[in-house]
Amino acid sequence: MFEKILIANRGEIALRIQRACRELGIRTVVVHSEADTEAKYVKLADESVCIGPAPASSSYLNIPAIISAAEVTDAEAIHPGYGFLAENADFAEKVERSGFVFIGPHPENIRLMGDKVSAKKAMIKAGVPTVPGSEDSLPDDPKEIVKIARKVGYPVIIKAAGGGGGRGMRVVHTEAALLNAVNMTRSEAQAAFGTGVVYLEKYLENPRHIEFQVLADGQKNAVHLFERDCSLQRRHQKILEEATAPDLPAKLRDKIGERCVDACRKIGYRGAGTFEFLYEEGEFYFIEMNTRIQVEHPVTEMITGVDLVQEQIHVASGEKLRVRQKDLEPRGHAIECRINAEDPYRFTPSPGKITSYHPPGGPGVRVDSHVYQGYSVPPHYDSMVGKVITYGATREQAIARMRIALSEMVVEGIQTNIPLHRELLDDTRFLRGGVSIHYLEQKLAEDSKKK
Ligand code: ADP
Repeated sequence: MFEKILIANRGEIALRIQRACRELGIRTVVVHSEADTEAKYVKLADESVCIGPAPASSSYLNIPAIISAAEVTDAEAIHPGYGFLAENADFAEKVERSGFVFIGPHPENIRLMGDKVSAKKAMIKAGVPTVPGSEDSLPDDPKEIVKIARKVGYPVIIKAAGGGGGRGMRVVHTEAALLNAVNMTRSEAQAAFGTGVVYLEKYLENPRHIEFQVLADGQKNAVHLFERDCSLQRRHQKILEEATAPDLPAKLRDKIGERCVDACRKIGYRGAGTFEFLYEEGEFYFIEMNTRIQVEHPVTEMITGVDLVQEQIHVASGEKLRVRQKDLEPRGHAIECRINAEDPYRFTPSPGKITSYHPPGGPGVRVDSHVYQGYSVPPHYDSMVGKVITYGATREQAIARMRIALSEMVVEGIQTNIPLHRELLDDTRFLRGGVSIHYLEQKLAEDSKKK
């Protein structure tokens, strides 16, 4: 096992990784920008290194500075968290070439899954169901493009191979709009992701977003830890997640989970990962794989009892997977509300000083957050300031506990989306379970008309 790990991230996930390391008796180095110097988790780490000014491009994305920090502190491994460099294959490669262990998959796996066209091809080969569409990137010949779209059937969605974060996608309803949409997505993708390669898929009109968590050791051992339902999204950003997915037949869960596990074995995957699917009328369609720990990982931890971050560290150190499929069983239900520093209805960011802070507690309540009274939320990064996770024997109990938790929670000085979550927890359609990925935006649009 490692003696010292460098954490190349910030905020709640930096603290989460630090806690996992401490439990394993591993010393920690936290790298931070000038904007995060005063954060408590930075002071809690065994060592900290300032790697640059506030803008992420000069600090959390500054590869040479992060590798130098690992060198001067004698860290053995680097945990990238999520976001920033977590899915950057060049970073993973540089980390390993400099003699450190990257806590994540091999760079070639990150690269394979980072290109959505190659990821989809790999999944088709591994027997994972994908969205019908162009199996390859779209050709240049307009006639060919029209032919492919006709075969798939409208509406279709044009997606950038290098896209991410919900950007680089365009829905097309008619043939007349097709070629223009392809050209526009191409040029946007070229500017944003450095490649104009695009592909085409059937646009599913009312799917749910259901994803499977996997763990693998790169030595042919792999398990899945069931699924999460992340359908409550705004602008493709997840807001509230739960495990397991309401009303998913157990047989189908096992079948898709096993396909994901097989795919991991086939590509020699190492570490934690997530297979994201759209789910419509009883069918699963793969859309992408995330090769890192995800924001919503705690709901899976609550229903399985597995510490995913610790397992990432174990397998990265070369150990065999300690978890076996036959020992895993989903128990109870868990919900996560992402707490963002933003206006709850207009969604404008609300950075600033937290003047009063009381986190909730009690049975089945977990709060993953780095903030505290007097902490200033910097304006430079993502607006998420923490996550409240509740667990219950049933979905109803998890929801009831979340309602109580959010009614106790006080965050003053900044605005947060807690009021929106509290409304959602009383929403009849949400309470029934199984809403589609469009539900939240439709509800917000209706509510704003009423106001
Ligand atoms: P990103 O990497 O940018 O998150 P994804 O491929 O995961 O992109 O897609 C993000 C979201 O876009 C999905 O959760 C879904 O809401 C929507 N989406 C993507 N592909 C389709 C599709 N074929 N049909 C309908 N919606 C889609």
